[in-house]
Amino acid sequence: MMDQRAWIGLGSNLDDPGGHVKRALEELEHLPLTRRLAASTCYVSRPIGPADQPDFVNAVATVATRLSPLALLDQLQALEQRHGRVRQRHWGPRTLDLDLLLFADYRLAWPRLTLPHPELAHRAFVLLPLAEVAPELRLPDGRSVSRLAAALGDHDVSPMLPGA
Ligand code: ADP
Ligand code: MG
Repeated sequence: MMDQRAWIGLGSNLDDPGGHVKRALEELEHLPLTRRLAASTCYVSRPIGPADQPDFVNAVATVATRLSPLALLDQLQALEQRHGRVRQRHWGPRTLDLDLLLFADYRLAWPRLTLPHPELAHRAFVLLPLAEVAPELRLPDGRSVSRLAAALGDHDVSPMLPGA
């Protein structure tokens, strides 16, 4: 299988969230059959869902991979586990969340994997870092990531300040 481009969303809001995200961005360089390409800067966002939890740090990265979509998801979930992720309540706090946002121009609705990620087009904490690193990127349905980011209404996402 030839290299395919995939986009990964990273998030953390426990135990030094910025450290988890920055380490995970480096660890993506070591996935099998995969090269990490661009990574965004980090953003800080208020949690969606339960509000009684710390702010998130978010970023996105792109990879070129010869893994299949499910094999890449397996690798991302293994990386979450190595960061000590314990699945608790839905949308609750987590040490590391890795979402597969886009894989080439695939559209899938499998039990374990929906592509594009179903919330991608609504979430400021995904669209802003994605538009930062890939302003020309389009979703499989043709929508422009930059235009989706520019059209966001009120949101609680801001660049993470250096040293934060
Ligand atoms: P969330 O990210 O929505 O808070 P989880 O990270 O716990 O929740 O993921 C729940 C499930 O979502 C995973 O078991 C995974 O199989 C499934 N899933 C479906 N589509 C995707 C995708 N595009 N990226 C990551 N996980 C996905
Ligand atoms: Mg997830």
